[in-house]
Amino acid sequence: MLLDHLERQLAARRADALLRRRRTAQGACGPHQQVADGTSPPRDMLAFCSNDYLGLAQHQHVRAGLIEGAQRDGVGSGASHLVSGHHAVHVALEQRLAEMLAPHVPDARALFFCSGYMANLAVLTALGDAQATIFSEALNHASLIDGARLAKAAVEKYAHADVAGLEAQLAACRSPVKLIVTDAVFSMDGDIAPLPELLALAERHDAWVVVDDAHGFGVLGEQGRGSLAHFGLCSERLIYMGTLGKAAGVAGAFVAAHPTVIDWLVQSARTYIYTTAAPLPLAHALLASLDLIRGDEGEQRRQHLRALVTRLRDGLGEVLAGHRWCLAPSDTAIQPLIVGANADALQLAAALETQGCWVPAIRPPTVPAGTARLRITLSAAHREADVDRLVQALARAAGEVAR
Ligand code: PMP
Repeated sequence: MLLDHLERQLAARRADALLRRRRTAQGACGPHQQVADGTSPPRDMLAFCSNDYLGLAQHQHVRAGLIEGAQRDGVGSGASHLVSGHHAVHVALEQRLAEMLAPHVPDARALFFCSGYMANLAVLTALGDAQATIFSEALNHASLIDGARLAKAAVEKYAHADVAGLEAQLAACRSPVKLIVTDAVFSMDGDIAPLPELLALAERHDAWVVVDDAHGFGVLGEQGRGSLAHFGLCSERLIYMGTLGKAAGVAGAFVAAHPTVIDWLVQSARTYIYTTAAPLPLAHALLASLDLIRGDEGEQRRQHLRALVTRLRDGLGEVLAGHRWCLAPSDTAIQPLIVGANADALQLAAALETQGCWVPAIRPPTVPAGTARLRITLSAAHREADVDRLVQALARAAGEVAR
């Protein structure tokens, strides 16, 4: 009975070109990888799909941090943070992260989580109690949506980047606690939320802004301090979530906020309390990665990444002139090519794959129906020649698929 039910659902997804597929990459994470799809032998691919924006996932310094950390402290933390798993290296990492965010969140303290998904669930469930209303941006990441669903708070969605609409919603709200919750860089669109305007609303309406900077931390702003630095914002009303498996190249996440917020998360966030603390070598690797992010090497990598974004947009702008497909308006490393129909997006991705370029097709429910897209992500590990190769491959593939 269960199996029949599942088979029917799988068949329906197959029929709508919505079946998701895993591929297996071999070797170190980076633009040049061997990739197997389970049907044919592994092939060399040029990948434009990872969130390793600075190319730190295989950096020698980060690897050395991990290996030396494991040699010194072993691997597992042995328990959850509130039992016996909280270790000096977690504390050192939290201090370093708090220091990075302190210019933007006065007196910031930081709390380290095993993943961004868990950090978002933590913030929304711990702060979004029955007294609260969560104002959730329409294009928020799944983990924020799930956090809002799990929270006891009332939830109101607001339209993408619609500051005026949100203001009307806030003005009508009688809850004593109001949380505006938004991705900083939208993960499937690449555009940046109007954070200064959202913060101004928060100040006017006694609300707080929860910022998910998964795709901005390490990449945007001075020393890679993220979207708050990008806009030069500073406020006690900001609750910042940064992930550490993307630009930082390792895994995990953190929340940086007012000390009272962090104290409350430690007491009540179930995804913090009821899970084993992250392996210690990961925290060591992250300390090494943060050194790179904040230093000259990080700056050079960010500059190179920005130059690649311009190169891609210029190149694809020419190729797509007059075409019905277009690049989304994004200045970040996430450069979606909006295609529309699911089947077209799949065909385009397949046509690129035949040319050795790996770009994932993103379809509903991850993005709204009718806006299937290729999600191109760039990394400082790409070379200019890699970007040129993608532009040429897309010119050919677009011609084939649109015909
Ligand atoms: N927020 C956003 C905007 C994301 O894109 C992601 C990861 N795709 C997450 C949160 C979850 O982070 P993690 O992968 O560390 O669980």
